[in-house]
Amino acid sequence: MHLSRYPRLHFAHLPTPLEPMKNLSKILGGPNLWIKRDDCTGLAGGGNKTRKLEFLMGDAVEQGADTIITQGATQSNHARQTAAIAAKLGKECHILLEDRTGSTEVDYNYNGNVLLDQLYNASLSKFPANTDMNQAMEELAAQLRTDGKKPYIVPGGGSNPVGALGYVNAAIELLYQANSIGLKIDHLVHATGSAGTQAGLVTGLVASNSQIPVLGVGVRAAKEAQEANVFRLAEHTAEYMGISGVVKPEHVVANTDYVGEGYGIPTESGIEAIKLFAQHESILLDPVYSAKGAAGFIDLIRKGHFNKDDNIVFLHTGGSQALFGYRSAFDFPAYD
Ligand SMILES: *Cc1c(COP(=O)(O)O)cnc(C)c1O
Repeated sequence: MHLSRYPRLHFAHLPTPLEPMKNLSKILGGPNLWIKRDDCTGLAGGGNKTRKLEFLMGDAVEQGADTIITQGATQSNHARQTAAIAAKLGKECHILLEDRTGSTEVDYNYNGNVLLDQLYNASLSKFPANTDMNQAMEELAAQLRTDGKKPYIVPGGGSNPVGALGYVNAAIELLYQANSIGLKIDHLVHATGSAGTQAGLVTGLVASNSQIPVLGVGVRAAKEAQEANVFRLAEHTAEYMGISGVVKPEHVVANTDYVGEGYGIPTESGIEAIKLFAQHESILLDPVYSAKGAAGFIDLIRKGHFNKDDNIVFLHTGGSQALFGYRSAFDFPAYD
């Protein structure tokens, strides 16, 4: 696969490390656990959206855009990474935040990712839950066009075929790393939301005949809807790359048992995962995505879902900046 055929800007810190998690492997009683550190992509503290934005911003620059519009939840990591790259590229950035949780906490509404969005000088606006955010972005784009601007809309999570190329690239990168150290990967597990990460990974891993199964652990939608979203985007990504039909429905698997009460609402198993990763591997997860992904990863290991001698890679998709918006999810004692 030759991704240089597509417009791309290079600003991510790549390749991200692929590291063993020896302490967690021991504590959880095997299999061999590894972590792919896409929390270290560099931009604005890192995260999976940076890989997608390399291709999306390549496209935006090619189209002559001077203004970037995107949307996400209040504590969106995607919004933070988009605001950051817009600042570096000297483009105006408008972020439409959907209030999916209804939280009135000051930390949730102003700290964490929101603080960084504002630091990067993005203009923020708030919309109630279940607003048609795509329509809201189109309306803003139309208004900006009448003001003489050239807006470029980045879909929520950067999840379209252009953005998903970032994860086709990640699949190639992971295979190269695994092959270089003689690591046979038996499973790849990660948190899945707007579908671009899993769609890109599956497309790249299937097209290169890696035989590595991918499991997306859902953070919002029900299993059937999530798998359908990922499959549809993988199909479109393959089509965009000229390899239509390579991805089959059976290549797309999601487990949505770890969502809890809903998107952006912390779960007990997610908080346990955050503490386990922090206290044994010094790795920071976030309560919205990576902790729910890790909760599924941990629970499936405990249930014996994987073989004891399997090599399992957890893709860390980032998000620890959101921790500061979720201080109240932790039960740490007062001190004096
Ligand atoms: C966006 C995000 C995800 C989900 O990735 P999608 O491509 O939207 O499915 C996972 N983890 C973190 C930290 C994210 O910000």
